[in-house]
Amino acid sequence: MVRTPRDEQRRRALDPDRIYGRGVLAEESASWGPYSLITMPEPWAAARPMLSVQPEQIVMVSTMERQAVDRLAAEFPEDLTIVGLGGGMAMDMAKYAAWAQDKEPILVPSIASVDACVTNSVAVRDGGKVRYVGFGVAKRLVIDYALVSTAPKPLNRAGIGDILSIHTGCWDWRLAAEQGEVTYDEAIADAALGWVRELEARADMVREVSDEAIRWLFEAYVGENALCLQVGHSRPEEGSEHFVAYCVEHLTGRTFVHGELVCLGVLLMSRLQGNRPEWVQALLDTTAVRYQPADLGLSRDVMEQALLRLHAYVIDEGLEYSIAHETPLDKDNVARLLHGLRLAPETHN
Ligand SMILES: [Zn+2]
Repeated sequence: MVRTPRDEQRRRALDPDRIYGRGVLAEESASWGPYSLITMPEPWAAARPMLSVQPEQIVMVSTMERQAVDRLAAEFPEDLTIVGLGGGMAMDMAKYAAWAQDKEPILVPSIASVDACVTNSVAVRDGGKVRYVGFGVAKRLVIDYALVSTAPKPLNRAGIGDILSIHTGCWDWRLAAEQGEVTYDEAIADAALGWVRELEARADMVREVSDEAIRWLFEAYVGENALCLQVGHSRPEEGSEHFVAYCVEHLTGRTFVHGELVCLGVLLMSRLQGNRPEWVQALLDTTAVRYQPADLGLSRDVMEQALLRLHAYVIDEGLEYSIAHETPLDKDNVARLLHGLRLAPETHN
């Protein structure tokens, strides 16, 4: 089997082949040939009547634990096209299975809240930690508004988390550069922040989850992924706001809607950075995304523990330099960060 030349693959990663529309899934599925479908029960139920050709094989994915993923990846016949249909896990499993066979998957996201269909590595869990493996590009992205609109609106709105994270991510990137940890690329950061400005202009449309908003969210992911590829790391979109999310997940052992927890992280870290926190909160409220700790089932006790532990957590985990490294939090600034937020009631066992 001939490997795709590296720079051809990179060119396509910067600008992946993609189609948008209402009802495009019917026509697209007719062109796949015999295929294996990697999906989950809900997106499969929604998509089934939209497909004009049914899959030869259906594989439900329920975990991205490394061992399970490797077992599953061995089950796909070489002669079938690999199609991933669903949320982040289905996208990642399809990328992984295709990568293992040295081919490219067709990706059909059923939700606008995850960028896994445009990112190139695969997030697998190994002993409770997330590792990124492989490098893959979709052969084609199929975004059918009819399918994505079947997902609950709050889940689609959560897609803004990984766009808004640019606001705090770039601030941390600049801070790290001032510490001599990394080089700050003004042009890349400006281009990334351009997506945040566009988000502000589209906040009402995101609230409605219109077809145009769905298209814009995916285009923003493509644009953001291209900037990260150009600069060779994910600092333009990942900083302390993500670290807050990881720390909360680590502390609670729960899984969250990624974008919602990241939105909360953006608000908290923008407060700590002194980086236009009122503007951030107004934008979050306009889009109607869920970000309040109460909406995420997070009590004052849990939030305090997470924020007090954040500094040690980012150092223990070897995460890249950010405001969370720079400023250890004490009870006073934790109270300031949580001021005015709605918190879930404490649960006592
Ligand atoms: Zn993210």
